[in-house]
Order: sequence, then structure tokens, then C-alpha cells
Amino acid sequence: MIIELESIFNNDGSSYPFDYELSLAHIEVSGAQPIKTPVSVKGCVKNNTGIVTLDATVKLQYSAQCDRCAEETEKTYEYEFSHNLIASLSNEDNDDSLLVSDMRLDLDELIEEDVNLELPTKFLCSEECKGVCSMCGKNLNKDQCDCKKPIDPRLEGLLQFLE
Ligand SMILES: [Zn+2]
Ligand SMILES: [Zn+2]
Repeated sequence: MIIELESIFNNDGSSYPFDYELSLAHIEVSGAQPIKTPVSVKGCVKNNTGIVTLDATVKLQYSAQCDRCAEETEKTYEYEFSHNLIASLSNEDNDDSLLVSDMRLDLDELIEEDVNLELPTKFLCSEECKGVCSMCGKNLNKDQCDCKKPIDPRLEGLLQFLE
């Protein structure tokens, strides 16, 4: 989606709301494509006393294997993004301003960049995921196993003493 910004920049108080779906199915995270369904993008570009800002809320379904137990897991993430749009660079501008000198904003591209920065670097089915047994490979969230856990050599002496 391309937003033409000229009339927004020229009219104090004007705004341009948007609400659409965007496919990010091509984004790859460690060899898989976790965003299988279109993401919802809602927000607005507005001119408030000459300052043009873009606010967007992006909601997406993320499905991938848990990094600990490899169970296929789906989660919903919601991100909020905000950018100042500027028509030309000047000294007062800070780093998070977005330069739109041609008065066109490729919103799809911007949302994709923003989402890419927010995606989880570690993906777990739950914070308490117990993972898999390093010896028999059982998913310990579902099953207990009888494997003897390797004993810390510093504790071994103490255990012998207790027996
Ligand atoms: Zn897990
Ligand atoms: Zn085991």
C-alpha cells in the first residue's frame, strides 16, 4: 500500500486512516516461514500542527517450532509502531524520523521492516517449557522419563555419603 502524503503535509489537522491485511508469508526465520496468515495493519497518518506522524498497530499469528521442545506452537503478537515523517532533513530531527522526500510512503515495506525487528529471537511454547530429555529425547512437558540425570561431580561425594 502506497500512501500519498502531499495533501497530509499541506493540511494541518488532516489524517489518513488505514486498516488492511498484508501478507508477510515470505519472511524467513531460521529456515521456516512462521507468518502463514495475512497480518492485520491498522493505524493512521496525521498532521498535528504541522508535525506528521504515523501510528500503526500490527497483529499477527506466528507459528513455529518451540526452540526447546520442537512442538509446533502458534502465538499471536501485537506490535505498535510510531514514526515521525519528515519532508526534508534539518538539524533538529532525531534518528527515528523517517524521511519521505518524494511524498510517497510505501507502508508495506515499512511495516515489514518494523515487524522484522520485533520478531522473537527465542520462541518458546511456554516460559516454563521443560524441553526434551537430553538422553532419550522425550518431550518432558508431556512425559516423565526414567533417565538418570548426570550428577554434578561435586555432589557425587555427598550422595555416596548419604547412601
Ligand atoms: Zn516447548
Ligand atoms: Zn529421558
